Amino acid sequence: MKMDRRSFIESSARVGIGLAVTIGADTTSAAQSSTATRVRLIRHATCVIHYGGRTLLVDPMLGDQGVMPPINQSPNPRPNPLVPLPMSADSVLKGVDAILVTHTHADHWDAAATTLVPKDASLLIQPADAAKFAKWEFAAAQSVTETVSWKDIRISRTGGQHGRGAVGQRLAPVSGYVLAASGQPTLYVAGDTVWCPEVAAAIEAHTPDVIIVNAGAAQFLEGGVITMDVDDVVEVCRAAPKARVIAVHMEAINHCVLTRKALRAGLDRAGVKTPVLIPNDAEELPLG
Ligand SMILES: [Zn+2]
Repeated sequence: MKMDRRSFIESSARVGIGLAVTIGADTTSAAQSSTATRVRLIRHATCVIHYGGRTLLVDPMLGDQGVMPPINQSPNPRPNPLVPLPMSADSVLKGVDAILVTHTHADHWDAAATTLVPKDASLLIQPADAAKFAKWEFAAAQSVTETVSWKDIRISRTGGQHGRGAVGQRLAPVSGYVLAASGQPTLYVAGDTVWCPEVAAAIEAHTPDVIIVNAGAAQFLEGGVITMDVDDVVEVCRAAPKARVIAVHMEAINHCVLTRKALRAGLDRAGVKTPVLIPNDAEELPLG
C-alpha cells in the first residue's frame, strides 16, 4: 500500500507541475488523469483497467464469498470465492465501457456476472465462447479473432496454455489480450496460462510495457500447475526485462496455492530485476 500511495502522489505531483505552466490547473489535471493508465485489482483476476480514457473490466467474478463449491479434485477444498468482493458489484460495473473476457471458467465469469452485467454491455470475448454469450443473450458480445479496433484502442487476442500436457488440453481454450493505443503503455493481460510458447510469442510480438499475469499456481490434485507459479512469473520477467509485471489471481479461489507473500519471497530468491507489483484486493496501481 505504501509504495502504491507514494507512486500515486508522485504521479499527481507531476500532473501538478505540468498544469502550472500550461493551460490551467483543473482542465489539464482532469485531462491527464482521465487518460492515465491505471489498473485496479478487484479480486482474483477481476481488474478494472483505465486505458486511453476508457474503462475496461477484465474477467468479472462478482459473486459473494462462498457461493461456489470448492474446485473439483483440488487441494484445500473450501467454498469459493474465499474472500468477499471488496466493493459492491454495482460499483465494480459502474462506468465500465467494455468487458474483456479471457475465458468462461467460473472464476472469470460467474453466475453473478451473467445476471448482473447488463445484456447490452460491450463484451470482447474469445470466439470459442461466442455461443455461450449468445445463449446468455448478451447482444453486444464481440469475438476477437485476432485484432479489433475498439474506440481508439487496438485489442489483440493472444494464446496461452491453461496447464501443461493433458490438463492444459482439457481446460483449453484460453485467451489473453494486448491493449495498444497511441500515447499509452502497451498492456498485456495474459489470462489463465502458464509460461509457454504462446506467452513468449505475445511478448515478442507486442513488447508490452505492462503485463498482468495470473499467478496463484492453481492446481488440481494431479497434473501440475494450471496458472503461473514462481518459476513461470520469473520466466515472464526474464522475457520482458523492461516491462512492469502485475501478478493477480491469488488468495481468492481454493486451488490457488501460491500466496502473494510466497510469490514475493520466490521472486526475491530468484533475484528478479523486473518490477513485479502484487496488488491487494481493491488496490489501484497508477502506470502512467
Ligand atoms: Zn482462473
